[in-house]
Amino acid sequence: METSATISGGPDLRRLTGVIGGAIALAGVLLIAIIAYTGWISNASEVAAEHARVENALNRSIAAALDQQKSIAWWDDAVVNIAHKFDVDWVDAQFGYFFTESYGHDEIYILNAEDQPVYSFLNGARAGPEAFFAHEPILRGVIEGLRKGTSGGLRERPDEFAASQDNYNVLKGVLKSARWKGNILLVDGVPSIVAAITIVPNVDQSLQTGTPYILISVINLDDKLVADLGRSLLLPDLKLSTSASRLEGVVSKPFAVDDGQFAGYMTWTTSKPGQSLLTIILPLVIIGVIGTGILSATMLRRLGRASAELARREAAATYEAKHDPLSGLPNRHFFALRTEKALRQGGGRSGPASVIVGYLDVDRFKDINDTLGHHTGDELIKRVAKRLKDYLAPSDFLARFGGDEFAVLRSISDDEAAKPLEKSIEAAFKRPFSVDGQDIRVTASLGLAQSPEHGMTTDILMQNADIALYEAKKRGRDQSVSFSDEMAGQLQQRRQVELELRESLHAGELELHYQPIVSCATNRIVGVEALLRWFHPSKGSIPPAIFIPIAEEAGLMPELGEWVLRTAIDNAARWPELDIAINLSPAQFHHVDLEGLLKSLLETSAVDPSRITLEITEGLLLDRSNKTHATLQAIRNLGFQVALDDFGTGFSSLRYLIDFRFDKLKIDRSFVSGMSRVGPAKTIVQTVIDLGRALGMNVIAEGVENEAEALMMRALGCHSMQGYFFSKPVPKAAIEGLLTAFNGTREGEPTAWRDDRGAQKKAV
Ligand code: C2E
Ligand code: CA
Ligand code: CA
Repeated sequence: METSATISGGPDLRRLTGVIGGAIALAGVLLIAIIAYTGWISNASEVAAEHARVENALNRSIAAALDQQKSIAWWDDAVVNIAHKFDVDWVDAQFGYFFTESYGHDEIYILNAEDQPVYSFLNGARAGPEAFFAHEPILRGVIEGLRKGTSGGLRERPDEFAASQDNYNVLKGVLKSARWKGNILLVDGVPSIVAAITIVPNVDQSLQTGTPYILISVINLDDKLVADLGRSLLLPDLKLSTSASRLEGVVSKPFAVDDGQFAGYMTWTTSKPGQSLLTIILPLVIIGVIGTGILSATMLRRLGRASAELARREAAATYEAKHDPLSGLPNRHFFALRTEKALRQGGGRSGPASVIVGYLDVDRFKDINDTLGHHTGDELIKRVAKRLKDYLAPSDFLARFGGDEFAVLRSISDDEAAKPLEKSIEAAFKRPFSVDGQDIRVTASLGLAQSPEHGMTTDILMQNADIALYEAKKRGRDQSVSFSDEMAGQLQQRRQVELELRESLHAGELELHYQPIVSCATNRIVGVEALLRWFHPSKGSIPPAIFIPIAEEAGLMPELGEWVLRTAIDNAARWPELDIAINLSPAQFHHVDLEGLLKSLLETSAVDPSRITLEITEGLLLDRSNKTHATLQAIRNLGFQVALDDFGTGFSSLRYLIDFRFDKLKIDRSFVSGMSRVGPAKTIVQTVIDLGRALGMNVIAEGVENEAEALMMRALGCHSMQGYFFSKPVPKAAIEGLLTAFNGTREGEPTAWRDDRGAQKKAV
């Protein structure tokens, strides 16, 4: 019922595990992504930087070509030898051969003020000026741009050359009139630097008349030049290729010349600084992350299993802690919790409400256990549990407190007219219980306590239900009793007595008194019965009828009984001519090695056991167990006499008299006292005496209170008599006096003795 729901923490833990797992996975993925991105971005930015460096190097190459041209073109002599008078040999030496051989220019052209060629130098030799026209369409933009100071329809490059000219103070004058332009263009399909510069005087500006001439150089960007460029940029394999490379780590960037024509791919091996990150660290991190993932998954799974197991065990432990293993019913602890809750909730849905606590005890369950065995007892308990559940209302809370004790909790709200609890329970026990093929009929006692009249707290309600149950058992079982304050008072008193009784033995408040037993035949005292007396310092004398049952229940009887036996046997030595009767309590049979105790008492006292009569009551014989029988037999074998006390008050089954041979039979005083007035009692006494005599037993009449009764008992054939007529129980010191008084009288007549007169008085 309350079990499966208690395995909580499962979903919580699963959620937590999910969150932790998710967090670990996210962290792993993030780490991998960051490393991969860092590697990739640093590679990409390095490629971009390398590309920019290549571009920059090309621009500087253009500036270098212009610088080379400038060294000759900006010169007074050049203006004189070209513009003023065209000295072809001088031009060959200073321009054609010089630029070709010193700087590797591939083509050199000089145009006049009208942009008409006046000089061409190709492939290491002078050509006719008209050779210029072969490349004129390609070079047109550069020339136009130079003349007009425009882009000439070509891509504009950063003017590295201009930037470097500021350093030359001497050239300040030239710079005012000089013009230049550098571009990269496809010349005969070969990407080439095209550098154009005006031929102007460097010192004597007056030499400049009209529009200046132009020097044009074409320098092919051949493999060697590109490779040189690459080396200077620490890109040793830089080259211009026709197709893009697919090789790992090789970059190919499309390369367009300045008029926009595609000229191939600028290709180089990039240094890839992020590569180690991507090829070494990233795989390691991935392995690490996967490993961590697997590890934490395993750990989380184990954790999950462990905590599931823990939750299961906890639930089992909680269940065990709250349930009785035999019947599966809630136990006392759980019952108390429930009662607590019911009281807090006011017992019901609304309005003034009530909680009923019922304590139930299966009557004489111990007998069933003893006679039919524990297995049957256990089975019976299970059947009773089931039957109760069937007969109680679904909202009733049934618990088992162990043994044969059950408890029921019922909450009643005002509007609920339920069948009384005692009726349901009564009905449950109407039919017998079928256990192992046999029908067992049992009854139950029920104690009820109800809030708020009988208590407002769990403790008090449970305690009062227990008191009511005790009362139900005391009143003869098989009934239900509701708690009353009076019961609590009695119980309180009992508790007090119990407490003080424990002390009394050691405090010397207990004493044995002796009541004479007189022979009918001789009228002499032939024996005494030892009777326990408790002289309470403040409450005075407490009768044994009160304190002996309490001692029995409180488990004090073994100790108390041993003291009685020891004291009585000890005192027996004082009156060698008397028999001593000692009362035995059932508890002395159940909880003490009685045989062993009696044996040891005989050894220490050296009294003749045949002088000692041990009195037992029928109550003891109800328990037909072998042990009781065996103990009784052992006592007789030791030489003691055994008497059946209070005969006629209990079941008085003749069975007892057949099962066990008693030496003496004591007729209860309820048949003797006042017998002369009640006719049928006389018949019963007569019958019992006849029976006893027939079975060879000594018959003793108890409670002889007057002379008439004494005479009657003697007439009916009793062997001996005991009662106030002869003497009340007296302290041991008074026995000697009684003996002298009694046993000195004439034989054959019942005699009373009054100690107030200090003399014997003839009764008849
Ligand atoms: P019991 O064994 O039947 O003892 C006889 C009781 O009858 C005694 O009561 C005694 O005082 C009383 N009695 C004797 N003659 C008369 C009489 O003429 N009229 C009336 N009305 N009563 C008379 P007591 O001493 O109060 O003991 C009551 C019971 O307590 C005993 O009944 C016995 O069952 C128990 N008891 C007393 N002492 C011991 C003991 O040492 N051990 C055990 N186990 N039980 C004891
Ligand atoms: Ca007795
Ligand atoms: Ca008696």
